[in-house]
Amino acid sequence: MNIRQPLLSSPIEEKIAWAENCYEKYGRRLFEDRTITDLLARLQRAIQGSRKEMTAAGIVDLCRECELNEGGSCCGAGLENKYDGWLLLINLLLNVRLPEKRHDPKSCFFLGNTGCMLQARHVICVNYVCKKITDRIDPEAIKALREKEGEELNALFLLHERIKGVSRHWK
Ligand code: SF4
Ligand code: SF4
Repeated sequence: MNIRQPLLSSPIEEKIAWAENCYEKYGRRLFEDRTITDLLARLQRAIQGSRKEMTAAGIVDLCRECELNEGGSCCGAGLENKYDGWLLLINLLLNVRLPEKRHDPKSCFFLGNTGCMLQARHVICVNYVCKKITDRIDPEAIKALREKEGEELNALFLLHERIKGVSRHWK
């Protein structure tokens, strides 16, 4: 298989197809690599840590209120184009089912009925806080969240690098 992935500017459907193809062909080998399984576990723990902190800070409630009363999410159409095939492959390794089509033409390809469908998210999605959040959430709580997000992004970076390294030996 040619592991050269689609360009960042390629349609998201092409990147998804590439990631699914890689998963099917090399997923088993990736799960046999101890460093990868350790990093996947570390990433999962870090993602849970960030989510817990977001809930504790009141951000989850604020976003829900925003969705219900103010016309919806800030996850606009086009944001999916920030994602490359590797990040989608990591989501598949985390047991995420990638969507086949967009739910809402105005929204990101990965936004479902109950929010973002991805587990491993791009730094832009992880780091984003809107003015409503900075105005209404305690800065100390945002600081605590940033710490957790740092762990998430660090684990994601290491995993990304490891998978890319291992893929050099794929034929
Ligand atoms: S991040 Fe801000 S704009 Fe986006 S859903 Fe939450 S409160 Fe609304
Ligand atoms: S958080 Fe998820 S749904 Fe929102 S822009 Fe990022 S990938 Fe799309």
